[in-house]
Amino acid sequence: MIVGHGLAGAILAQTFAKHGINVHVVEANLPHHASPIAAGLVNPLIGPKLNPPFDLEKCLQEIHRLNDFFSRKFGESFYENLSLHRIFRNQEQANIWKSNPSKISHFYEKVEIVDSKETTMKAPFGIGITKCLRLRIQSFLEFSKHSLIESDHWIQGSHNYDTQGYDFIIFCEGFRSAQNPWFSYLPFAPVRGEILEIQKKLLFAASNGTWAIPQSSTSFLAGSTWDHSGLEKGPTSEGKKKILNDLDFLNLNSVEVLSHLSGVRNGTLDRNPIIGPHPENQKIFIFNGFGSRGSTTIPLYAMKLVEFILGKSPLPEHLNPNRFES
Ligand SMILES: Cc1cc2nc3c(=O)[nH]c(=O)nc-3n(C[C@H](O)[C@H](O)[C@H](O)COP(=O)(O)OP(=O)(O)OC[C@H]3O[C@@H](n4cnc5c(N)ncnc54)[C@H](O)[C@@H]3O)c2cc1C
Repeated sequence: MIVGHGLAGAILAQTFAKHGINVHVVEANLPHHASPIAAGLVNPLIGPKLNPPFDLEKCLQEIHRLNDFFSRKFGESFYENLSLHRIFRNQEQANIWKSNPSKISHFYEKVEIVDSKETTMKAPFGIGITKCLRLRIQSFLEFSKHSLIESDHWIQGSHNYDTQGYDFIIFCEGFRSAQNPWFSYLPFAPVRGEILEIQKKLLFAASNGTWAIPQSSTSFLAGSTWDHSGLEKGPTSEGKKKILNDLDFLNLNSVEVLSHLSGVRNGTLDRNPIIGPHPENQKIFIFNGFGSRGSTTIPLYAMKLVEFILGKSPLPEHLNPNRFES
């Protein structure tokens, strides 16, 4: 039994299916969750130093395997290739790009810096182009839900933490882990984020830390913000203002905001997900804490959890719920 059909619960359920195992999923459609609004970017170079995230190569390998499985099962592939224009914030970022360290060079589409005079964007330090992926999360969640309904493995409603009747229960509740009697002791670090859909055609994705990605032929998505307080307060005028200000590199004259949404990412104190059994009950698991990078990391960690439950391999220590005990 999987509790929660956000991105974590859905990818985990489909990874079990890939191994020929059908699991039940219970989902309550609770408000303020991340997956229904998230943009799904898989960005290979992150942070001010443009570093590749930990385990990126393995994450990408697993994404490709899972995407092949989706194509066979659903007739759709939900991860799409995208080129991202990286607007350098300062000369240091431009220098990192120019020096092109071999460990990340294969992510660059255009190694030389694009002259900002060649574009309509404001980019005094230049622009580099990198390969990335985008997971169409909301579409994937719909397909996953329908396949579970069709095979009679979908339960609509809120799980009440009764653990009887199933071999294993895996909690994938996003930030509602704070209310889970088994796992609320863990040091999760939830952060609220906002996202806008703006009416304007955008020909390519761009980011200077704040990103803008084409959503339809007439609109694009932009985000996001970081707010550790008031997790359930929903979209705010300050959040909207911040995103619009940060988009100044696009030189937008006027904007029409088509939608404005807010959701909570559930991160952890040490920024690694928390995955594994409860220390006192080996039938009860947690699969959570994917922060702002669920589209990149969940396929790899879902595969690791399934292999652990099937007795094929141990779970990596850096994911263990016990790691916080002193
Ligand atoms: C604004 C924003 C932008 C983002 N952009 C990106 C991005 O570009 N790329 C990226 O990789 N990540 C992004 N993220 C992060 C990403 O969305 C998350 O890592 C991922 O969605 C987490 O999924 P989850 O399933 O763990 O949690 P959630 O999405 O929170 O899902 C948990 C689910 O569990 C259900 N649930 C909870 N408790 C119960 C219960 N007791 N019974 C039944 N159901 C229950 C809820 O209804 C919910 O559906 C973004 C997040 C935000 C907020």
